Amino acid sequence: MLKRKRTNTVALLLLLFAVAVYFLEYGPLWPIFIILFIWFAVTLFGSFFIRWNYHLTSKHSNKDTTYQWVSITFDDGPNTEFTPRILELLAKFGAKATFFCVGKNIEQHPEILKQLISQGHSVGNHTYSHSNNFGFLPLDKVLNELKQTENLVHSLTGKKMKLYRPAFGVTNPQIAKAVQQLKVHSIGWNVRSLDTTFRSEKTILKRITNTVSKGDVILLHDTSEKTIVVLEQLLLFLREKNLGSVTIDRLLEIEAYA
Ligand SMILES: [Zn+2]
Repeated sequence: MLKRKRTNTVALLLLLFAVAVYFLEYGPLWPIFIILFIWFAVTLFGSFFIRWNYHLTSKHSNKDTTYQWVSITFDDGPNTEFTPRILELLAKFGAKATFFCVGKNIEQHPEILKQLISQGHSVGNHTYSHSNNFGFLPLDKVLNELKQTENLVHSLTGKKMKLYRPAFGVTNPQIAKAVQQLKVHSIGWNVRSLDTTFRSEKTILKRITNTVSKGDVILLHDTSEKTIVVLEQLLLFLREKNLGSVTIDRLLEIEAYA
């Protein structure tokens, strides 16, 4: 798979060669633009698709598990309207999940965070503000975002989170450095439901059930009515297929807290 450092080195060497040919041999200009365009496109895709592991290596699934397990994950909560209903559904099916929480939402609903943990679900860091320009923040701001949420959860529960899911699944060199400095696991997914889009419950459910199998990590959001409808059908489907949902740390065989 493509990695940032290797891509940058190759692009730079090709660029130097193309520039040299242009100046020394009166070569054409277009190879320079083609190289720049390809480099830009690769960098862009590598930043948007966490599964490329372009800037850093994230964990997306555990297909080697010997258990009939998948892991359902919820991003962007806690949400006063939907998270408690999701917890009810999970309890009804005896399923465990992982909630990647946003710091500012935890501040508003600390009781829901405590409830998640007391019911045996895992909690991970999903930044403090989930700001739209997160992908453009400098390193100190990225670190602040992660530490703020980490400290908040620690003060409420005594737990130091080790799981981190980048907001929007966007990664870059700053986020890679922050992950390394804070010694957290970057967590992705391999089944994206697209439950925050305009798609119908039926389409979203089909996207998941068409592909899901043991070892998979499913991405949902505890922020809408639609997700609740999808979750109930998904839990029924998993039960039928004899698949259980466990917390992501259990599926990936890593620690959720330090
Ligand atoms: Zn998010």
